[in-house]
Amino acid sequence: MVLRVGILGATGMVGQRFINLLDKHRWFSVEALLASGRSAGQYYKDATSWYLVEDMPDDIAGMEVQGMDPAITDNLDLVFSAIPSDIAERAEAEFAERVPVFSNTSTYRMHEDVPLIVPEINPNHLELLKIQKRERGWDGFLVTNPNCSTIGLVIPLKPILDNLGIEWVNVATMQAVSGAGYAGVPSMAILGNVIPFISGEENKMETESLKILGEFNGDEFNTANFTIFASCNRVMVRDGHTCSVFVRTRDDFDVDQLKEILRKFRGEPQRLSLPTAPKEPIVVMEDQNRPQPLFDRDIGGGMSISVGRIRKRMDKVMRFTCLSHNTIRGAAGASILNAELAYKKGLLRGR
Ligand code: NAP
Repeated sequence: MVLRVGILGATGMVGQRFINLLDKHRWFSVEALLASGRSAGQYYKDATSWYLVEDMPDDIAGMEVQGMDPAITDNLDLVFSAIPSDIAERAEAEFAERVPVFSNTSTYRMHEDVPLIVPEINPNHLELLKIQKRERGWDGFLVTNPNCSTIGLVIPLKPILDNLGIEWVNVATMQAVSGAGYAGVPSMAILGNVIPFISGEENKMETESLKILGEFNGDEFNTANFTIFASCNRVMVRDGHTCSVFVRTRDDFDVDQLKEILRKFRGEPQRLSLPTAPKEPIVVMEDQNRPQPLFDRDIGGGMSISVGRIRKRMDKVMRFTCLSHNTIRGAAGASILNAELAYKKGLLRGR
């Protein structure tokens, strides 16, 4: 059965990615496009500054954008959300009262009863939905995916944590301009420049990662027990967030062993052959000058994390560089993978 999908924030950078990734999706069909009052009532092609290289699908171009009226869910089975965080608290709750919501927005990620899911890492955290249902009484539910810089870090950290243990992580990011949304960073601020501050970003990396890598036994939630130190920078790159990472492990390792641990990593999306799952969640690169956003961000359809420059600094201390596509694995692709996981687990139904 094909489920009917609405996109909240359909005209934005992440909204456009949803449209691109859901075009001809086997399980989900886009039936409603929602955005602010500025866009409501216009054809999608007129309301949107399309920034993707891929063409806007013809059937979407002629659809009318609608305002954020939750009553539209009478004709939908689920929604994806890519709206600004300041309006999400009310808007996402109003939609989740009615249908399942898969959100990119930071607003609910750290709420205790809201799953923050990376399907390769913590698919069992979906069980938090039982607590959410009990406490909020919604007919639908709310599942979130992490911040666009967090996801490129936590995926390589997961096999390292499981195999070697982690004592601390130090990460510096080089984040693309598209991470700030369409109107995001003025060209005069970023051209020829690096901005060593992104509001709220360091805290998100330091806290979301520990929730995702934490353990939930059905009753009790324990966040992962190590410290992350993050420094976040905006750089003059269009798409693709790069991270330079130091990790202090509990156990010692050698570099070949570490590469093997990363290469072999697979999770539930690969076992279930979910449509948006990359075959290899982590692609290990041997060239000394890779990964680079220009060349490597689209590996695995933009869903793989590229990891290179893997080296050992001293006993129990590794360094590596990782790269993720911020609007695919870091946003729309992550939400879609979460919805595919929920579908396979029987949490989504046509109405
Ligand atoms: P964006 O390009 O600025 O798009 C924002 C979208 O929200 C547009 O569709 C906009 O519609 C809509 N919107 C704005 N105000 C609204 C209102 N009052 N009511 C209803 N809709 C409203 O931003 P984005 O980069 O796509 O980000 C969207 C969300 O995803 C944000 O919460 C962001 O933090 C998160 N996120 C972004 C990335 C990324 O890489 N860009 C990654 C992960 C998470 P109009 O066109 O009508 O204004």
